[in-house]
Amino acid sequence: MAERDARCRQLGGDAERRSAVARANDSGLERVSAEARSKVCIYPGCERPAVPPDPRGGPQPAFCDLEEHNALSAHQERRRLEDESEAGTR
Ligand SMILES: [Zn+2]
Repeated sequence: MAERDARCRQLGGDAERRSAVARANDSGLERVSAEARSKVCIYPGCERPAVPPDPRGGPQPAFCDLEEHNALSAHQERRRLEDESEAGTR
């Protein structure tokens, strides 16, 4: 019974996450700004909050307000980290 209970909770969490994404995609601006506070920069190792979405609309940036944190630099940093971990296993 305990196992079944755990699975139910997992499914619930997943559905919650999916509905959060759906809400971010529609243009309910008030709700989006509430979520923006919990959104964190996706740059590897960065835990700064992501910049809030433009009040006139548009998707919320996935990065914080640091200029060097953008899609390109994040990609490069991820590759650098991958190289490093590969070098460590060798
Ligand atoms: Zn950042």
